[in-house]
Amino acid sequence: MRGRELRGELDAFLTETEQDLVAFRRDLHRHPELAFAEYRTTRRIAERLTAAGLTPAIMPRGTGIICEVGSGDGPTVALRADIDALPLQDEKDVSYRSTVAGACHACGHDVHTTILLGTSIFLARQAEAGLLPGRVRLLFQPAEELPGGALEVMAQGGISGVDRIFGLHCDPRVDVGQVGLKPGPITSACDKLAIRVSGPGGHTARPHLTADLVFALAKILTELPAALSRRVDPRSSLSLVWGRVEAGSAANAIPDDGIAEGTVRCLDENAWHAAPDLIKALLESVASAYGVEATMDYTRGVPPVVNDEVSVQMLAEAAARALGEGSVVPTQQSLGGEDFAWYLESIPGAFARLGTRSPDGGVEYDIHQGTFDVDERAIGHGVRFMAATALTALWEGARADIPDELPTLADSL
Ligand SMILES: [Zn+2]
Ligand SMILES: [Zn+2]
Repeated sequence: MRGRELRGELDAFLTETEQDLVAFRRDLHRHPELAFAEYRTTRRIAERLTAAGLTPAIMPRGTGIICEVGSGDGPTVALRADIDALPLQDEKDVSYRSTVAGACHACGHDVHTTILLGTSIFLARQAEAGLLPGRVRLLFQPAEELPGGALEVMAQGGISGVDRIFGLHCDPRVDVGQVGLKPGPITSACDKLAIRVSGPGGHTARPHLTADLVFALAKILTELPAALSRRVDPRSSLSLVWGRVEAGSAANAIPDDGIAEGTVRCLDENAWHAAPDLIKALLESVASAYGVEATMDYTRGVPPVVNDEVSVQMLAEAAARALGEGSVVPTQQSLGGEDFAWYLESIPGAFARLGTRSPDGGVEYDIHQGTFDVDERAIGHGVRFMAATALTALWEGARADIPDELPTLADSL
């Protein structure tokens, strides 16, 4: 079975299921659950997967599901959806408004979950009909917003034996029916940095007999970002920006300690990996020049999502098959973070942006706002796209190089 036949099968499947899937999304939307508390959501998904003849495995905490479709020796492709909501107030006036105070599916994870559920049911039927040339691992991941759910899925063996992984995210800047694709980095890294500087303290009359701690701290605040800009490739956009600084209590006393806190943002994976050691070395050299002790607390966020080029070509091929020619648009790297990045540190794969904007709706939404909503036609498009992506990746052989007849991404854009 190839392109045109697949499209017909997806059309028939969605004619039958689309209304029910929209109702499923609205039910999740009414009952949002925060990171690692997605118990009801997990039960709802598990019920539907079981009804489709699958065997969902609920993760040990009781939130999140790993489930496999198909059997045999073919390649294994993973599809991932995140299932958690945000600690925000729902500000919409719709029938499916959140019924939980201070919780809202404002990042569209209810839509991602519903799309993966629809895709699972479609693929289960394909497998039953003997049309699945391999296995598809379905990952209903908890706690993307924390982040950390991806690491938990990996700890449970979620991507063991997986050749390639795909995921998508609602994008209110892309029209419904289209997908935004980009090879290479598509999201960014953001870490937190806290520095503590200490010295003997003393009288401001005699800085030479002690360590002038406030002066040293000021040097660190200005020297570190300046030195980084000369030590790291400017194209990585590694930037250290301070958000908090504190030292001292009296005008005539040199304090014995001080702190500075800030964020490190980065577009490039290599620079992200190198950042903590480099910052620590720079910090120690500035601190020692002024006779103070400095310690650093570096908290990792997520790395950038770095899309594998072959996987992006598969997404483009799937979009052309399932949504039609012209459905792929280029997209930019965002400064936001996404924990899908953790999977791509281990196996190849790609992350797509799914259009959720009504072309003539006149309303501009953004994610992480209490007013966020989608054009629900995105659910059907998402199922078509995800199902076609899994089949395309299986057909092409997850480990094989792209055959010549596949169009390149450049052809699709
Ligand atoms: Zn989010
Ligand atoms: Zn999200």
